[in-house]
Amino acid sequence: MLLTMNEMLKTAQEHRFAVPAFNAGSGQLLTAMMESAEAKKAPVIMAIHPDELTFLRDSFIASVLYEANHSKVPMVLHLDHGASYEQCIHAIQLGFTSVMIDGSQLPFAENIALTQKVVEAAHAVGVSVEGELGTIGQTGNSIETGTTKIIYTDPADAKTFVEKTGVDSLAVAIGTAHGIYPKGFVPKLKLDLIPQIRQVVRVPLVLHGGSSNPDKEIAESVNLGITKINISSDIKFSFMTGVQNYLQKNGFEREPNVIYPSCIALCRNTIEEKMKLFNAIDKMKYFAL
Ligand SMILES: [Zn+2]
Repeated sequence: MLLTMNEMLKTAQEHRFAVPAFNAGSGQLLTAMMESAEAKKAPVIMAIHPDELTFLRDSFIASVLYEANHSKVPMVLHLDHGASYEQCIHAIQLGFTSVMIDGSQLPFAENIALTQKVVEAAHAVGVSVEGELGTIGQTGNSIETGTTKIIYTDPADAKTFVEKTGVDSLAVAIGTAHGIYPKGFVPKLKLDLIPQIRQVVRVPLVLHGGSSNPDKEIAESVNLGITKINISSDIKFSFMTGVQNYLQKNGFEREPNVIYPSCIALCRNTIEEKMKLFNAIDKMKYFAL
């Protein structure tokens, strides 16, 4: 069942869980995500970054929409880190039900202006928009970039940003970074920022860079009111570990349908751990069918 992000996150906010947004950047990862969502009756967000869309090609979106329309699991098709108005329009044309416009690297007023423009176009056709304020870090090993200096989201700016742009959800920077943290790097998460922002902002809040953070901190962020958490690196890591394990154990193999099932199974373990951590298991029941 295909939903907009607005419908998805309002329900998550009401019932205090977070919906995982998986960057399932290949057909096998989409299979893993759908199988887990159905097995665990958990709502999911299929997040596709513009670089992933280029790799997957536009035709892949027809498969994603087929999966969503033939499943009882509530699902959103979301453009992750749209970098321009044009990228967002392209995604809307393909059938995405949600787009992110990431103007977080722009000066505040320009971020507002760009986000406003995307909101106006997207809302005209019933598509939800996620904006971003503050900067999410980068580790140098993710398709998503970021900055070396993390700028934490300022609650007063967040209030102004949401009011002026009309966004449906807001990605906040509380100290996470995209990718897998290098050995010895300890992210400084400011979890207390979440309730401060929640006090002045009514739209659902989103956490990027959710991979490789301590489970305790992620669970706490859900308790504090985060309703969407992006996971990219962790699921890809477990899938590719599966590929490596298979080839090391069995030597060369050419058939995808022989190699990939065990990799999908390994990936599903990670997906289902995240669903549990986000309190998203069995939450399908809260969505009207
Ligand atoms: Zn991100």
